Amino acid sequence: MSNVRVRFAPSPTGFLHLGSARTALFNWLYARRVGGTFVLRIEDTDNQRSKKEFLDEILKDLKWMGLDWDEGPFFQSERSSLYMPHAEKLLEKGLAYKDGEAIIFKVADDQIIEVEDLIHGKIIFNTKEIKDQVLIKSDGSPAYNFCCVIDDNDMGITHIVRGDDHLSNTPKQILFYKALGFNVPKFAHMPLMMGKDGTKLSKRHGGVAVFEYKQEGFLPEALANYLMLLGWMPKDGKEILALDEAVKQFDISDINNVQAKFDVDKLKWINGEYIRQKKAEELRAPIMQKMEEEGYRKENIDKEYLLRIIELYKERFRTFSEFLTLTTCFFKDDYVMDEKAFQKNLSKEESKKCLAEFAKALKEVKEFTSKNIEECCRELSERTEIKAAQFIHPTRTAVSGMLGGAGLFEMMEVLGKDKVIARMEKWSI
Ligand code: GLU
Repeated sequence: MSNVRVRFAPSPTGFLHLGSARTALFNWLYARRVGGTFVLRIEDTDNQRSKKEFLDEILKDLKWMGLDWDEGPFFQSERSSLYMPHAEKLLEKGLAYKDGEAIIFKVADDQIIEVEDLIHGKIIFNTKEIKDQVLIKSDGSPAYNFCCVIDDNDMGITHIVRGDDHLSNTPKQILFYKALGFNVPKFAHMPLMMGKDGTKLSKRHGGVAVFEYKQEGFLPEALANYLMLLGWMPKDGKEILALDEAVKQFDISDINNVQAKFDVDKLKWINGEYIRQKKAEELRAPIMQKMEEEGYRKENIDKEYLLRIIELYKERFRTFSEFLTLTTCFFKDDYVMDEKAFQKNLSKEESKKCLAEFAKALKEVKEFTSKNIEECCRELSERTEIKAAQFIHPTRTAVSGMLGGAGLFEMMEVLGKDKVIARMEKWSI
């Protein structure tokens, strides 16, 4: 065990943001890398905005991503009696004064505060820009920066790894550490995560909260993998790496000093890589869950049938949502008919004739296997001297509503003879 102690300190005033998830991840990676301790602290002093549902979801999302904590969760709201004695001590020392019921910290003018930030390097602050700081508000509640310092000290935090949005808090907190006679921990501030276009991350970029990606059907390994690449790159440049592999290589000082840009397409690519590493059976349960969320009834999903479809499409989808879009025709008879596909493959008189001919020939196929279907198509093409493609394209669109997809004959086999022929006949008149 090393004596390194880091913490993740979310405020349960909203869902776990991707940026915060990355902060948690980097803290976790560092703790695991050095054999240190990862502490979870819930900063829930804002009574109005803190909600139990946010807290529950934050804890669930951390676990979902594979981030476990060694100590906590500690709740700031349960520690409220601990802050006042420290404020009183500062009053006694003459470092703070009272303003009504409030206790205010005196900030001496024109002092230099130097921080050796592990990511940014040396940062110099001047107290000229810092006004006197509230420690205890007039209603008796402690101010955020004060709680944070006392908690971090009580919890023995050695390294504070957090986003650049807290950089302006750092000199104020350092003043408190020194005034209280605490050891000042090391700081590492990560540049914020932005959208792909360089603007603040928003819904427009694909979502801002971890649970949105969970709901969308991303794999936790893929999200964790992608988040760690936002600001850090393994030395060998290998981008697909699981948490346990990253643990072997990670160091805080390797975090980039530039803003990371979140690109949902890259995340989808990584997710696709993880999907392909999995066996169809492993994907079945999460896909079934996604299907239930989308309104399918569990008892109506044939597990074997689903497995065959996953196998057929495994190389083609990057998310479970994409899987469902690509495979609707296997689960619903009222699948959407793509307008372009219809115009191209089903609107012309010859296409309808070909479809009818092929459907007729298929009725004679006894064992409806992809091999026999293909054979039937080839024979029909030879007999009629019409190219096989003239049968294949209208059939694909008739049975699936789409222009592309998995191999047509395999799709037809999985769909089954009755469904295939009924759909072909429907579109051939
Ligand atoms: N509670 C703060 C937040 O959620 C974190 C404070 C810190 O890391 O020092 O942004």
